[in-house]
Amino acid sequence: MTATILDGKILAEQIRAEIAADVAKFVHQTGVTPCLAAVLVGEDPGSQVYVRNKEKACAKAGITSQLHRPPAETTTDELLALIDRLNRDPAVHGILVQSPLPKQIDELRVLEAVNPLKDVDAFHPENVGRIVQGRPRFMPCTPYGVQQMLLRNNIPIAGANVVVVGRSDIVGKPMAILLMQRGKGGDATVTVCHSRTRDLPAVTRSADILIVAIGRPKFITANMVKPGAVVIDVGMNRLETGLAGDVDFEGVKEVAGHITPVPGGVGLLTVTMLLHNTLTAARLQREV
Ligand code: NAP
Repeated sequence: MTATILDGKILAEQIRAEIAADVAKFVHQTGVTPCLAAVLVGEDPGSQVYVRNKEKACAKAGITSQLHRPPAETTTDELLALIDRLNRDPAVHGILVQSPLPKQIDELRVLEAVNPLKDVDAFHPENVGRIVQGRPRFMPCTPYGVQQMLLRNNIPIAGANVVVVGRSDIVGKPMAILLMQRGKGGDATVTVCHSRTRDLPAVTRSADILIVAIGRPKFITANMVKPGAVVIDVGMNRLETGLAGDVDFEGVKEVAGHITPVPGGVGLLTVTMLLHNTLTAARLQREV
């Protein structure tokens, strides 16, 4: 059996076109253009690529973007002062602080300093809490992208056994929360695995939908996958040979029913959902 490929590129283009149409309508109705301010501290090359992609995606969707580039030796207090300025600037609707931050910076203080109404990454504890309670303000970008990929490919989620491998705050945990919520796009039976999970292959083989976000290239092999399962690879590992996922694509595609490639899978959806959240932020700030 060879799995059906879940194409993130086509889906991202489709959703970005929907967002661009919604942005145009919002601008027409309000005279306000949504604006995303990105903060990139230092010179991390990977982060520079991500931020450039986000700027390009904003421009295509009709969203204005700002890039703030404090130097690598910036202190926590200096960064907090910048966040404070952006929080108070009525022209800025969304703020994203690109990670990783240099070691001297207290990342938690910075994330907590972002105005929750401008927190388009949904990292602020208030927004995380709202997601857990099933009344989100902003959707967690990568998990929401995965959920949309499942929904828009008509993959049954309700009642499915979902196994999420990885328990990070930005992917694994919010992923599990979204799929276990009551209602559309949820109602799954979710198991979360991590580095201390006993007999991981036995757990992953129980999955109807297997979602992997661990940062270990080609870690999930064919013997860890139930025949016909849906396999979503969130991993993005930069190797000398190029970008690789956490799933051994060549082997697993012979067993799975559906599979996402890397690149061309989940990655493009993450940026797409950031655009969605920036429009939401602009809408919310019209209401306050
Ligand atoms: P992270 O913070 O690096 O955490 C990794 C998680 O994987 C941890 O929970 C860890 O368990 C678990 N883990 C590590 N080795 C394991 C093993 N051998 N068996 C089982 N679990 C294991 O993760 P992240 O930030 O979510 O990133 C994960 C991957 O997704 C990376 O490749 C990253 O680049 C990628 N990513 C992609 C996107 C996208 O847009 N596509 C977005 C974000 C991240 P412990 O908790 O026990 O340590």
